[in-house]
Amino acid sequence: MNDIINLNNNYYIKVVNKNNEIPFESMNIKNLKLTKLLKKQKIIFQVDFNEFSTKEYKKILKKILLVKNVTMKMKKKLGLDEDKKTIVAYIINFNEKNVAQKDFISGISAIFYPTRYERYNYIYDTVCDYLDSYFYGKNLCDFKNNKCGEKRNTSSTTGCCHHFRNKALGPFSKLVLCEYLNKENYTCDAKCLPCKLFTCDYLEKKGIKFKIKEILLLDVFFNPLQKYFIKYMVFTPKEKILKRLIKL
Ligand code: SF4
Ligand code: SF4
Repeated sequence: MNDIINLNNNYYIKVVNKNNEIPFESMNIKNLKLTKLLKKQKIIFQVDFNEFSTKEYKKILKKILLVKNVTMKMKKKLGLDEDKKTIVAYIINFNEKNVAQKDFISGISAIFYPTRYERYNYIYDTVCDYLDSYFYGKNLCDFKNNKCGEKRNTSSTTGCCHHFRNKALGPFSKLVLCEYLNKENYTCDAKCLPCKLFTCDYLEKKGIKFKIKEILLLDVFFNPLQKYFIKYMVFTPKEKILKRLIKL
C-alpha cells in the first residue's frame, strides 16, 4: 500500500513499492548533480533506501538542501502535484520501524521549511521531544525524596537545576535554583535543549550520554560554532537560543 508522509509544510513524500511507480523525471539522490538541474523544469527527488548506508545520510541531506536552495533561487517548480498535494520525493524500500530511516525523513522535512528560522525551530522541537521521550517515566536520575543519584549524599535537592547567582564573585557566589524551574511540578519552563543534552557522571556511568554528532538533525544542519552553543547555552530559554543560532 502506498503511503503519504506529510512534511508539515505543504510538501509531501510518497512511499512506493515498485520502481515503476516513480515518475521518470525524478532525480535519484544517490547521484544528484547541480548541473542536471539546468535541464529540469521540475525538481522531484527519488530516494531508494537500499542504495545508500546510514553513513551517507549526512552527505546526502546536505546535498538535498543545496539542490532545494538552488531550485528556489532559479525559480523552478519543486515537486509534482498529485491529488492536490505537492510530492517532493518518492521513496522506496522504506521501513517505518527503522529509526535511522525515520531520522533521515525528519531531515528531509527540515529541508523543506521555507525559512532557516522555521527549520531550526522544527529541529529544536524534534530533538527536545526525542530527549523528553527518552527520559519519560523511567526516573533515570533515580530521584528519591527530591534528591537525584548524583547528589544523593549531599544536601542538594532538585537535581542539577542550580547555578551560581554571580559568577564574578567566585567562591563567594551563591548557588541558587534556576529561575526557569517550575516550582509547582519541577519541570523546566525554558525548554532548554542544552540542559536536556547534559548528562552528569552518574548518568554516564549508566551508559547515558548524548553526542551532538550522533544526533542526525543537529549534526547535519548546524555548523561547529552553532553546535558549541547548542552544547553550552544551558539555563537559557528556547527563544534566546534560536535567536543566537540564527545569527551564526
Ligand atoms: S543529570 Fe545527573 S545531576 Fe542532573 S538530575 Fe540527573 S542525576 Fe542529577
Ligand atoms: S533551564 Fe535548565 S537548569 Fe533551568 S529549569 Fe530548565 S533544565 Fe533546569
